[in-house]
Amino acid sequence: MSDYDVVVIGGGPGGYVSAIRASQLGLKAACVEGRGALGGTCLNVGCIPSKALLHASHMYHESVHNFGRMGLRTGAKAFDWKKMLAYKDGAIEDNTRGIEFLFKKNKVDWIKGWGRVHSKGKVAVGDKIIEARDIVVATGSEPSVLNGVEVDEEVVVTSTGALRLSKVPKSLIVIGAGVIGLELGSVFARLGSEVTVLEYLDHALPGMDGEISKNAQRFLSKQGLKFKMGAEVRSVLRKGNGAEVEFKLRKGGGVHSVAASTVLVATGRRPVVKGFGLEEAGVELSGSGAIKTDSRLGTSVPGIWAIGDATDGPMLAHKAEDEGMAVAESIAGKAGHVNYQVIPSVLYTHPEVAMVGKTEEQLKEEGKEYGSGKFSFMGNGRAKAVFASNGFVKILFDKSTDRVLGCHVIGPSAGELIHEICVAMEFGAAAEDLALTCHAHPTFSEAMREAALACGGGAIHA
Ligand code: NAD
Repeated sequence: MSDYDVVVIGGGPGGYVSAIRASQLGLKAACVEGRGALGGTCLNVGCIPSKALLHASHMYHESVHNFGRMGLRTGAKAFDWKKMLAYKDGAIEDNTRGIEFLFKKNKVDWIKGWGRVHSKGKVAVGDKIIEARDIVVATGSEPSVLNGVEVDEEVVVTSTGALRLSKVPKSLIVIGAGVIGLELGSVFARLGSEVTVLEYLDHALPGMDGEISKNAQRFLSKQGLKFKMGAEVRSVLRKGNGAEVEFKLRKGGGVHSVAASTVLVATGRRPVVKGFGLEEAGVELSGSGAIKTDSRLGTSVPGIWAIGDATDGPMLAHKAEDEGMAVAESIAGKAGHVNYQVIPSVLYTHPEVAMVGKTEEQLKEEGKEYGSGKFSFMGNGRAKAVFASNGFVKILFDKSTDRVLGCHVIGPSAGELIHEICVAMEFGAAAEDLALTCHAHPTFSEAMREAALACGGGAIHA
């Protein structure tokens, strides 16, 4: 008899969800986590703290720019960075404690320490060996820092250091116009930093629909972020109290440099797969260096499974959670399933950006006959009333079947609105199904219906 049916290595969104679901399915489950708190990168140094700072800095921005327009008088506009950080830390603690509570409620044991795959069916934590019939590897990812760049998490920082800077930098260089760069760049621009974003590609937000990424960059430029596109960063050197970044312009050439008090390296993340016994156990990696899994999330070694950022696919907490549930179901002998075609993606800037399904660029590449219906938030009464009319909704549909193929939103609450389309896509809905669905007035959601109407006979308020 093993100590456990399932031992999960890693207590992030993939790992903790997997342990809870396993226990709910009647399996004896434990989760090994060495960080002082559960929740992984997402809750401790990622999604949750960044959303807290995005919220606080947005409130400050609103107080400066929009309160007066609504007749609100609140005296001198100022903020206390230390208190803002304390609020952020409170949000982390609230959430990580919540997972501890859920573990107790669901009878999942938290084994404190760093886990290693000892051999098939055995996990080592310190000098203890725990026997498990099945092992789930959910070790997540870590920032992938450019060669030759030394991160000290004070002046040259990754997202982890950026979330606990001792003060708001006077100037900030962000390397990489991906999600992390634009979210954290927004936070500091709102709080008064001069923010310059250096991006290798000629567009921001790789993987997003081109029209959306162009508009996101335009709105963020209006908020004060400066962009240098086609800029390949070569080195970052500490200079005085700050740092100097050297980059080469891909078009036109020439090596340039720019200095700032803080540099944020946001050039992607890589899976954590080394140093805990995977190789020794014979677990194969994929071409990209992630853990190779089959359609049931099994690795090349029977009894060892893998989920989340440590495997291939989008590095998103909700993708990991879905895989966490599916793997527990597979282990319990059920049909665990993840629909990779319907995984939304959200950028929590202002306005928010959200997408699900195919981009126009992907559909063109596939040679698909598609149509699109668009609606601007300028025609949405609620958005106009709350200074949120920047942005639009674009629904992409199959020209022959009217089936929804994708949706791209930039605008108020985009990250919430997108789920209407996720549900529609799960049910294989046509754009007409959305257009025929009554939407409450006045809501931002009406823009979704109007975009669906624009896929057919036409929107009303356009
Ligand atoms: P990213 O892949 O989204 O963006 C990295 C950017 O850096 C790219 O645009 C790339 O072209 C650029 N880059 C790479 N090398 C460069 C160089 N030498 N010079 C200039 N630019 C260079 O990565 P990220 O923003 O670091 O995020 C990492 C992961 O975390 C992503 O997979 C992301 O999905 C996830 N994440 C998601 C959210 C969210 O869903 N809101 C938030 C944060 C992080």
